[in-house]
Amino acid sequence: MSKDFWYELAGQPEAVEQIKRTVENRDQGVFHSWLITGPPGSGRSVLAQKFAAALQCEQQGCGKCHSCVVAAAGTHPDINVLSTEKVQIAIAEVRDLVNQSSFGSSMGGYRVLIIEDADRMAPVAANVLLKALEEPPANTIWILCAPSEVDMLPTIRSRVRKVNLKVPSVEDVAMLLIERDQVDPKLATLVAAEAQSHIGMARRLALSPEVRKRRHQYLSAAMSINNVSQAVKTSAKWLELAKKDALDLTKERDEEELQELRHSLGLTPSDTVPPTYRPDIKRLEENQKRRATRSLRDGIDRILVDLLALYRDVLTVQLFTGAELVNRDLEIQIREVATSTTAKNTIHIIDEIEKARDRIDRNVRDMYVLDSLATTLKRSAL
Ligand SMILES: [Zn+2]
Repeated sequence: MSKDFWYELAGQPEAVEQIKRTVENRDQGVFHSWLITGPPGSGRSVLAQKFAAALQCEQQGCGKCHSCVVAAAGTHPDINVLSTEKVQIAIAEVRDLVNQSSFGSSMGGYRVLIIEDADRMAPVAANVLLKALEEPPANTIWILCAPSEVDMLPTIRSRVRKVNLKVPSVEDVAMLLIERDQVDPKLATLVAAEAQSHIGMARRLALSPEVRKRRHQYLSAAMSINNVSQAVKTSAKWLELAKKDALDLTKERDEEELQELRHSLGLTPSDTVPPTYRPDIKRLEENQKRRATRSLRDGIDRILVDLLALYRDVLTVQLFTGAELVNRDLEIQIREVATSTTAKNTIHIIDEIEKARDRIDRNVRDMYVLDSLATTLKRSAL
């Protein structure tokens, strides 16, 4: 079955239409700088990559020609992508990309430069980019991705054309998982709801029973805290699960990068690293360590986001709103908590979880934040 070139943009017909129209009218010139905004997991990077591929394709995005195939593989010579897992994009990385932009296209088409997570540029790095946006060479297209417009400097915001992605519906995400990843329809709907329509997260939950079990564990534990010592144990458990999750995500990638670097230095897997190359290896390891810190932080935030949804579910039951629960698999426990506590208490908990997210974001010590949150979740007798 041949799928539509844009089908992975689940639930985003307006944004897809805007980009398709731009590509259709490319003979009249394409605007040089774009900003794709949308919540994490809504498909920003996918849209950027499809936009770039469609611009390069003679048929405006067929998915089958050589250009489309290498674009999808991330090896198109005229598409450069800057993606990062680090907390911040380094100024050197942006400079490097700006240098690439000055080369123009190698095949007479466009040179497309994509910055994923453009909100992670420090102001100095953003200013390097700004200079490039002010005087773009002909047929050079910049595509920036960020959660929202306000994450970008006003000077950059005023120079870009905006494309806005929405939170896709649970049904849209489930449909994509069924079509693209052959996930069982019932499971697809469950995980799409659990991931609150974050496409990447939903996919992970669907394809890894381990990840889904972990999620189940930390949410169940949250609802069973009856005293202070349990609170302390539960927060330690959360941190442990967040670490496991972060480790899973980074381990494979770290190893791959190391092998790649060794290969490019001409080392076989059994060679010891000669002293001249040690700084290269060390730099890679330092980068990976920084990234691991970020993944752990993301892992903790994921737990907090899931806890938010859990207590909104509790509140839904307490207020009889009749809305569908996010955590349908935990319904029995949710109802039990709902009948043994008050809505006022649940609202207080939701508030405290929001505060905890904010504190983690501001680098307050993880264990301290989680301990104090777990204590708040302790169920006191009515
Ligand atoms: Zn094509």
